[in-house]
Amino acid sequence: MVDIETEKKLVKVLENGINRQLQYYLDVCTRCSICKDACHQYVTTKDVRYLPAYRAELIRRIFKKYLTAEGKFIPSLGEATEINDRLLDDLFESTYACTGCRRCMYYCPFSIDTTWVLSLAKAILIAAGKGSSILTELADASVMKGENIALFKDIIIDTLKDTEAQIQEKVKDPNAIIPIDKEGAEILYVALSGVHSIIPAAVIFHQAKADWTLSMFEAANYGYFLGDTEKAVKIADRIVNEAKRLNVKEVVITECGHAYRVMQILYEYWTKEKLPFKVTSILEIMSRYFKEGKIKIDTGKIKDIVTYHDPCQFGRNAGFYDLPREIIQYVTTNFRELEPNREKNWCCGGGGGLVAQPDFDELRLESGRKKVEQIKKSKAKIVISPCENCRLQLDNLNEKYELGITISSMMDFVVDTMIIPEDEKEGTKEK
Ligand code: SF4
Ligand code: SF4
Repeated sequence: MVDIETEKKLVKVLENGINRQLQYYLDVCTRCSICKDACHQYVTTKDVRYLPAYRAELIRRIFKKYLTAEGKFIPSLGEATEINDRLLDDLFESTYACTGCRRCMYYCPFSIDTTWVLSLAKAILIAAGKGSSILTELADASVMKGENIALFKDIIIDTLKDTEAQIQEKVKDPNAIIPIDKEGAEILYVALSGVHSIIPAAVIFHQAKADWTLSMFEAANYGYFLGDTEKAVKIADRIVNEAKRLNVKEVVITECGHAYRVMQILYEYWTKEKLPFKVTSILEIMSRYFKEGKIKIDTGKIKDIVTYHDPCQFGRNAGFYDLPREIIQYVTTNFRELEPNREKNWCCGGGGGLVAQPDFDELRLESGRKKVEQIKKSKAKIVISPCENCRLQLDNLNEKYELGITISSMMDFVVDTMIIPEDEKEGTKEK
């Protein structure tokens, strides 16, 4: 039961969160339902809670109830709804299930940004103590690591020592290292948890003779998925402060769609602070090295049909469409698009932090059926996607629907076909 004090608190969050843009979204929806055919979750389940307009409707109803004269004085009129447990439960399911893919926004005649409306829903749920518990735990663990990095540093260095051997073997250079905490480096590379996104990046940086250093913090930002801006900023601050301390010129984010958006787009919007360094994606770095002739590829190595899944956070939400396709063209001409693609691409179903929330596993795998259909039609055997969440979801879809495909990051795709020239084996050393 929602007591009167909680109700007042939640209405305050609603009131503070509504701005002109959100008000426009709430006012302008004509309930035309065009968005229903755009959402992979609604299309595959027909569950009204996943209909984009319905997700926003829950916010519209409480807005009407508490912040319009009609709702305050004639509550029986219209669809004004009070905040109660049932509404909050519905709001939780509709909100935290959304992958934030913005495909509905692309098709909506008024470009209503359901994801943005749901960011307000997340703020209300968090204030009600009903935010996603697992995303809260993951976000808190990241914040804790930032506050206690001295405790983690030795463990990180030990792990990297073991990893360096694999890199040395790949580049055939016993002096190849993974630099860490290197002041004045050109690049601070921010990887994911684990070494799978460190190894290929280290190979690429080594071959390009780049002046780089590895961040002690992982790129993933669960505060963003949770919808808690304060925590999201604290998590991003760990990287920002490290970059400032090391005085790097460029922060390069690994293949992780939301992490790139947080650092490149959202951080300055949230904090109103202009960052003193460039933020780029590792894809931009690879493209740069290809153009500069620093990466050489065995172009005949890939025989299978290759396709590309546009991660929603990297494509629709950040505008990267040509760049990844250009990189693939450096490696193979055996490329075939998924249909539809680019702005119209279907979400794989794993975004929005869903792969980290077991309660949504069933929905996640069911709603991936649109992606499965696309992949099957393409007849591709290799699917590349530069986003960790997408790859985890594609791996799960591959297993469940027996697709028999290989899912690859762009870095692995490039490194697996890379030529290590004989004359670069001797005497190459990290700066
Ligand atoms: S397509 Fe846009 S206007 Fe139509 S119901 Fe969906 S959100 Fe509302
Ligand atoms: S953002 Fe994506 S998952 Fe969320 S409602 Fe829109 S289409 Fe569905």
